[in-house]
Amino acid sequence: MPIATPEIYRKMLDSAQQGGYAFPAINVTSSETINAALKGFADSKSDGIIQISTGGGEFGSGLAVKDMAFGAIALAEFCHRVAEKYPVYVALHTDHCPPGKVDKFMLPLIQETARRRKAGLGNLFQSHMFDGSELPLAQNIAKSIELMKLCKENDIILEVEIGVVGGEEDGVDNSATDHAKLYTSPQDMIEVYKALSPIGGRYMLAATFGNVHGIYKPGNVVLKPKILKEGQDEVVKKFGPKAYFDLVFHGGSGSDLKDIHETLEYGVVKMNIDTDTQYAFTESIVAHVDANRKVLTHTATDVADKKKFDPRSYLKKSEENMAKRVAQGCKDLKAEGKTVFKG
Ligand SMILES: [Zn+2]
Repeated sequence: MPIATPEIYRKMLDSAQQGGYAFPAINVTSSETINAALKGFADSKSDGIIQISTGGGEFGSGLAVKDMAFGAIALAEFCHRVAEKYPVYVALHTDHCPPGKVDKFMLPLIQETARRRKAGLGNLFQSHMFDGSELPLAQNIAKSIELMKLCKENDIILEVEIGVVGGEEDGVDNSATDHAKLYTSPQDMIEVYKALSPIGGRYMLAATFGNVHGIYKPGNVVLKPKILKEGQDEVVKKFGPKAYFDLVFHGGSGSDLKDIHETLEYGVVKMNIDTDTQYAFTESIVAHVDANRKVLTHTATDVADKKKFDPRSYLKKSEENMAKRVAQGCKDLKAEGKTVFKG
């Protein structure tokens, strides 16, 4: 199917919220990882979200260009074309954009969508994340309001973050963050609702409950999903059921299934998976190299085996293995078989 329109994306999110499931949001950096994500969603008959980070966009533009917005546009355009061949809906999203990168990442991407809309084309991205968690809450909210207005004009959903997701991702290292910031308070959620709901657009909230990016030894991360419930309860008590948030779970890789399922009860509709799909992709390359090491390098007497060093020979395996991990994500988030696409 073509990439989800804003209307279909809202329908996807409503369906997840009402149906007690969530979408895996898979980070991509290349055509292979895009194909893997699409295959994983389609194999699961699940809709999904494909997302690009600032670093992913820069990588996607090539070493000689290194332009994060340009690369994100190119990857998104590739995605728009190939997604047509799959019988599920996929929305395109951009991951963490800190305040210092808004001008060179989010704004050019919103402008590109505005340009497309003028030309009668669909939105390039359906949602963007602004991550103002490094700012004091009042400044984070002020900037979120400004961006929310811009997104609303273009029928784009904005994801905002309060609290801090621990760990390290894409060069942003929060491993030394003040412990209290790893848990969003109900008061923080009330502030966000008060500030953003009058604008009238749609938004998602990355509230934090001890979640971290990256990979940890078992037992090192203590998730407290109840934090999300407490926040939602307070907000609904104060403003009514319409205030119930669409929540985003960052750092989904390596989380316990029990914790994941608990968050689905508290309004999580999107869970980001990056570390585990990166690992799945590379795991296949490692196996390929291990199994074929002797024929992958020219020697003084022999030439290497072209069938084994052709990048497609191992990238196909990577695509397959990453697609399996994506499908696992759909299952874990109870999204399997839930596509809203009627073929
Ligand atoms: Zn994240």
